[in-house]
Amino acid sequence: MASAISIQELHKTYANGHQALRGVDLEVQEQDFFALLGPNGAGKSTLIGIISTLVRQTSGNVSVFGKSVATHPYEAKLDFGIVPQEVNFSPFEKVADVVMTQAGYYGLHRSVARERTERYLRQLGLWDKRDNRSRMLSGGMKRRLMIARALVHEPRLLILDEPTAGVDIDLRRSMWDFLQEINKGGTTIVLTTHYLEEAESLCRNIAIFDDGRITECTSMKSLLNKLELQTFIFDTQYEIDMHVFRGSDIGHARILDTHSFEIDLKPGEDLSQIFTHLSRINILVKNVRSKTNRLEQFFLSRAKIS
Ligand code: ADP
Repeated sequence: MASAISIQELHKTYANGHQALRGVDLEVQEQDFFALLGPNGAGKSTLIGIISTLVRQTSGNVSVFGKSVATHPYEAKLDFGIVPQEVNFSPFEKVADVVMTQAGYYGLHRSVARERTERYLRQLGLWDKRDNRSRMLSGGMKRRLMIARALVHEPRLLILDEPTAGVDIDLRRSMWDFLQEINKGGTTIVLTTHYLEEAESLCRNIAIFDDGRITECTSMKSLLNKLELQTFIFDTQYEIDMHVFRGSDIGHARILDTHSFEIDLKPGEDLSQIFTHLSRINILVKNVRSKTNRLEQFFLSRAKIS
């Protein structure tokens, strides 16, 4: 399968010296449903800005379906549609005209533009509003209008920057259904979100951003497994080595140094069972503590923000 987005060693330093991206590598496969998750200021919008040719990278390579956005922006643009975070159409333009004008930018024949405008406005529940000025729309409708506009040239890749921020729960779910539908139809989708729940419901793969770097890039399934995993660190009274665990019920323990090791609790297992196993092999524990992994730190920092 082709690579929809391919990014190597991407850096972005803004004019004020802020390093928004610090060496990002990322591959998104065609037909994937991919989430960029991370707290405010992590660099998600900057990355989207660079992919969509609105922000210039400091260094690195970014290509969309094999076309470099830096050297071939016009060719690359044909393959993606962008739904930005902020509403960016004229409030005085009529709803149908917002989509028709965009079709004009892509040189679509008027009859094709009309047919697609009707199709996407209908699919997004906006056909009845087609003659209204766009400023009359609710926040959720404006966002749906931006999705219709982004799809009118039928791009292979749709990129959405926080599509459901501030959108109420019913509307959020209907937007999810719509996005899933077009993904099934073959469109690759990349979205940024603050909400793990959103990524969990929609996405197959996920990259977690923090402070301009990707700290985790994995399938949604294995991320959720990791989140459920509890790890404990044990400090021991006496020196230990790997052999002590061999053949025991805690063969999955990992030695950290001469006096400590860590163990992942299996689902349904609790600490008292681990202590039973340890006493069987004569290990005396001085101290035990829960391990905070990078993922937990990420979610803690997210919790501080929200
Ligand atoms: P996110 O979308 O994950 O919230 P952004 O990409 O918007 O993060 O921002 C990443 C960092 O870059 C933030 O610290 C932000 O303040 C900074 N930043 C974003 N845009 C600019 C800009 N135009 N000039 C200077 N700094 C910026």
